[in-house]
Amino acid sequence: MIFRLLRHNRMKEEFKMRFVADTMLEKLARWLRILGYDVVFDSSKSLKELIEISNGEERVFLTRRKKFPEGVAAETLYDLCSENFNEQITRVIKQFDLDVKSKLFTRCIDCNVEVVKVIDKETIKGKVPRMSWEGFNDFYECPNCKKVFWKGAHIKNTVNKLNEIMDSM
Ligand SMILES: [Zn+2]
Repeated sequence: MIFRLLRHNRMKEEFKMRFVADTMLEKLARWLRILGYDVVFDSSKSLKELIEISNGEERVFLTRRKKFPEGVAAETLYDLCSENFNEQITRVIKQFDLDVKSKLFTRCIDCNVEVVKVIDKETIKGKVPRMSWEGFNDFYECPNCKKVFWKGAHIKNTVNKLNEIMDSM
């Protein structure tokens, strides 16, 4: 169930979909980041802190939690209603009409920040396997952890995996 999701009555295109994932939803959080979506996930934070982030930054709070302590309430909450990951990701994609193609792999899965295109690939020589360095021209780097990404076979595998999940629902 969604509470007050469109409380500002914005047009859908203007509504920048951002999330906070509850602490038990690490896999879902990482997959949404793979799709390119901004998802706060931090298992070191308390429920109260996560909900403060969610409310303060107008992020949808994704959870499976049924009960909340008194005085702790997310303004915008989506109840996943399932412990099954395939069901969870499918629900979120459908509910929020997420774009599962165009922003794929634009965000660091560990840091939740957008990756930056590497201008001169000489600068990352030695940071990626030689075969990949020679075979690809477009590389992306996380400005935070400095990990380098490129659009190799794993992209296709991820897309296939996602299609499999969506088809099975
Ligand atoms: Zn990173």
